[in-house]
Amino acid sequence: MKFIKYFSLMKLSTKNRKKNTFIHLFLAPTMLLKCDPTDTEAGIRLLEDLTTNANQVQQQVLKEILIQNANTEYLNTFLDGHASEKLFKKNVPVVNYEDIVTYIERIANGDRSDIISAQPIIELITSSGTSGGQPKMMPSTAQELDRKSFFYNILVPVMNTYVEGLDQGKAMFLLFIKPEINTPAGLVARPVLTSYHKSSHFRDRPFNKFNVYTSPDETILCSDSRQSMYCQLLCGLVQRSEVLRVGAIFASAFLRAIKFLEDHWRQLCLNIRTGQLTDWITDPSCKNAVSLILSKPMPDLADLIERECIGISWEGIIRKLWPRTKYVEVIVTGSMAQYISTLEFYSGGLPLVSTMYASSECYFGINLKPLCKPCDVSYTLLPNMAYFEFITVIEDHDEKMQEKVHCNGKSEQKNGINEEEWIKSKIVDLVNVKVGHYYELVVTTYTGLYRYRVGDILMVTGFHNNAPQFRFVQRRNVVLSIDTDKTSEEDLLKAVTEAKLIIESLGLLLTEYTSYADTTSIPGHYVLFWELKKRENTEQLPELDLIVMEQCCYRVEESLDSVYRRCRRKDKSIGPLEIRVVKHGTFDALMDFCLSQGSSVNQYKTPRCISSQEAARVLDSRVVARFFSKKVPSWEPFRIEANKLMSDMHRAV
Ligand code: AMP
Repeated sequence: MKFIKYFSLMKLSTKNRKKNTFIHLFLAPTMLLKCDPTDTEAGIRLLEDLTTNANQVQQQVLKEILIQNANTEYLNTFLDGHASEKLFKKNVPVVNYEDIVTYIERIANGDRSDIISAQPIIELITSSGTSGGQPKMMPSTAQELDRKSFFYNILVPVMNTYVEGLDQGKAMFLLFIKPEINTPAGLVARPVLTSYHKSSHFRDRPFNKFNVYTSPDETILCSDSRQSMYCQLLCGLVQRSEVLRVGAIFASAFLRAIKFLEDHWRQLCLNIRTGQLTDWITDPSCKNAVSLILSKPMPDLADLIERECIGISWEGIIRKLWPRTKYVEVIVTGSMAQYISTLEFYSGGLPLVSTMYASSECYFGINLKPLCKPCDVSYTLLPNMAYFEFITVIEDHDEKMQEKVHCNGKSEQKNGINEEEWIKSKIVDLVNVKVGHYYELVVTTYTGLYRYRVGDILMVTGFHNNAPQFRFVQRRNVVLSIDTDKTSEEDLLKAVTEAKLIIESLGLLLTEYTSYADTTSIPGHYVLFWELKKRENTEQLPELDLIVMEQCCYRVEESLDSVYRRCRRKDKSIGPLEIRVVKHGTFDALMDFCLSQGSSVNQYKTPRCISSQEAARVLDSRVVARFFSKKVPSWEPFRIEANKLMSDMHRAV
């Protein structure tokens, strides 16, 4: 691996070429750029150009979006048809999903007029955020897939800058698709990666030395996640000597694959030994694609894999099974940071590489130092992807004020200033953020989102040329997350409120609760700590009925949102929810602990989620009984009701 001076070399040459570069970028008809992933030098040069000219690129992006969409129904209300940046900043409100959901639902229900975008919305991207219990849906256009391809392509030169020889072998990337639905009007709604992997941009990608995967596309595109996982691991094992990198999008998905391997390695070895695919793989495309790789019995290979897997400890198993692997590519920032130590255990010290920061709304930024430690990861937002703005988050108080606007959707007066004005006064452009400051990300996309609050809090760690770099701090309002689920304090409260009805009918009271995401086993699961008492004023702990408490666990799960339930039921990426009942006085002990750590007595509120291990110990040492959900919660693809359209249309007007 060469830790390169490439960037500095490039910087020098960029300086010399600065004028030409600028002309080159701005001669492009649009900010829809192309990048040849095999041309490292050109790719790095393009990145240097984009980051050096971040401000100009952002201005150009906003101009393009406004010219394209000023006459859409939504923007016209604020701009009166003028593609003016000034009017945009003055009149266009900063919004949450709830503010625009009626427009999205009209699109879902087949209104083809230029509601939010002059370009046709070809599909809706379902995000892991929810609104009213349903996944949020983000608009997407055909052009957006080109933008995503650009984004994926530009990751390649960055990686090649740091790791040599990636063209000498294959990548074992475990990629999966998720269920999708058709809206009443025939638009497809699906998660962003499913959209990309099913698109011709992925399927017909031009072959190059850097995109050779061990997984045949047929196995990635198999809708049965178990068959998909089995076949991808089998192909990865058969081609083990060629594998130079392994990974998945999120750390949770990669660890799930390791767990699957732990459960299935004997069967996988048997298949490799005999050259015969197990009979429960019934998907014809998978069978066909795998048969081309598992083309003959390979007993020596099976012996070798078996020897590694049969060992008592799986520490360093990745290196053992795929000995040429140079790194593990998985996102380990944000809520995925909880998996770092487990990944380190299995990977045997291989670098953990978080390459990108993206969402259903838009792909945001890339990590220019992919081999850095997970705690040092910063993402540089690519200024050509969207128009970025940032709400300054100075202190807790500011967040609270922002939440207030978010929750009740009304404009309130703060020191005589209209709340909306107040938020706008706290907004800064991409190039004006300050190192060490915290911000909430706001995007204006090419696909019809204008000044949309993504909900992520970021901290500026520095600049690459003129483009700021951000550490992902947290998702606003999310307390629990195991996989792609994002459970807020409100979601949790709602679910606990439902479940406590069961015990209340039996004369028990839930006096306090908190939670945490237990990821010590795979898959991880939600743990709730409950302090209970009898209705009569007694400290004596009530007798707990196993069936009743298991019902409580299940009721909580049933009441959580559809992404949680999909992860539980379809993806099996979350394990059964657990309730740990703690003895009387435990939450007082938790308060004492928090106060000892500096919380203020006056402002103390029971944390609804705990992240510190010490706090967990305070609770765990007082657990008197543990219960698990025995049933898997229901899940079915959400429906968009056509008849909702009319009432929504009235509301939207
Ligand atoms: P979704 O819209 O469901 O695709 O989720 C997107 C969200 O996932 C983002 O807004 C972030 O909160 C989170 N996310 C995506 N990429 C990263 C990353 N690299 N690090 C931390 N969180 C991320």
